[in-house]
Amino acid sequence: MSKLYFIVGSQDLYGEECLKQVAADAAEMTAFFNEKLGDIVTVELLPTVEDSPTCIANMRKAQCDDDCVGVITWMHTFSPAKMWIKGLQELRKPLLHLHTQANEKLPYDKIDMDFMNLNQAAHGDREYGFIVARMGIPHEVIAGFYKHDRVVSEMKRFARVANAIAFSRNLKVASFGNNMREVAVTDGDRVESQIRYGWECNYFALGSVVAKIDAVTEAEIDAQMAEYESKYTMNTDNVAAVREQAKYEVGIKKFLDENGIGAFADTFQDLYGLRQLPGIAAQDLMGQGIGFGPEGDYKTSALSAVLMKMAEGLPGATGFIEDYTYDLTEGQELELASHMLEVPPSFAASKPMIEVHPLGIGNKEDPARLVFDGVTGDGIQVTMVDMGDRFRIICADIELVKQPEPMPNLPVARIMYRHKPDFATGTSEWIKAGGAHHSVVSTALTRADIELFARLTGTELVVIG
Ligand code: MN
Repeated sequence: MSKLYFIVGSQDLYGEECLKQVAADAAEMTAFFNEKLGDIVTVELLPTVEDSPTCIANMRKAQCDDDCVGVITWMHTFSPAKMWIKGLQELRKPLLHLHTQANEKLPYDKIDMDFMNLNQAAHGDREYGFIVARMGIPHEVIAGFYKHDRVVSEMKRFARVANAIAFSRNLKVASFGNNMREVAVTDGDRVESQIRYGWECNYFALGSVVAKIDAVTEAEIDAQMAEYESKYTMNTDNVAAVREQAKYEVGIKKFLDENGIGAFADTFQDLYGLRQLPGIAAQDLMGQGIGFGPEGDYKTSALSAVLMKMAEGLPGATGFIEDYTYDLTEGQELELASHMLEVPPSFAASKPMIEVHPLGIGNKEDPARLVFDGVTGDGIQVTMVDMGDRFRIICADIELVKQPEPMPNLPVARIMYRHKPDFATGTSEWIKAGGAHHSVVSTALTRADIELFARLTGTELVVIG
């Protein structure tokens, strides 16, 4: 279980009694946080910061603890912020400044100077907030009484985003084949991807994956087929084509596991040694939280893995999709989004069908794939593009809708959505911002989640909605 450290600020000016009360209040708050955030992270209290050495020791502990995904800070009393400078310089993990109080209401009839000195976050958090701003540390500020539902829900968001950033910092992304020839938007600066997000993006020869695939046994294929049959409905007589995909999945999974890889990109332009483009194999892997990008799109692959991690435990679907074609009926414009095969099964409105159909692209055998109609509900569409000197994330509000009519001849899974605030604005702003045709759609995450991720990773963000 990942962990957030809670660090409370004070100083030694107010006497032992005051510091004892600060520690007692902090312990009570920590117990409350564990009760409320326990399904996402645990919260551990560190010694109250009364001086610079304590602050440095606390931040070093947080930075060196591999289970720690971030730090919560709060100034119970005034806490002169020069004491925090060297400690904050040790920290390179997501920082939450919780602007709260131990008490909800003011005790109007009893309040005296002792109470004021003990409970002065309005004063101390401004001093601390200044130094965080002055040092240019990307951080989140959540304001309000810590027991209020809104504050708890914002703290949960911070915990989920911090978890996703920790996952991102350790993510290995494999490219089996290069970026699709001549395609611009899927390409990007892999060195900057590693510096900014931690993604280790490396090329692996497809042949080394094919070697794994060729070594898959009939028994392993049987086991994978049994899994397919438990999750999906067979809607084909061409069992051999499905078994071929089952073999790919087992082989690719072994390769990913052995190399600690959490996201991969392939390309139909390099299928040397494979008889089909991975279809259901890629789809079922996405269903297990593995990031995927087609046509060598390593950015979308990594981003999809990170956002699936962020959405863990939330209701709704998150995954890769490609913008495809429109219904431009005036006033009711809709988009049909899909891919040539690889649509994640998390988007399925009902049990997916396993089908085998020809694929005009890639000159290979007919690949097996999952076919289904998509889920509905409010969502977001997120993409990342490389602007040359920086990455940009674009996040648009969309509404996923039921397809108005059946599409019996469309041999791929699909989702449909309405752009917000309307078709013309949603699509034209996306295009002006350089938004890609590959993206991650989520009905689990919200714009606020992406805003926080962008802020904490120092990424430029364009929002549309
Ligand atoms: Mn594509």
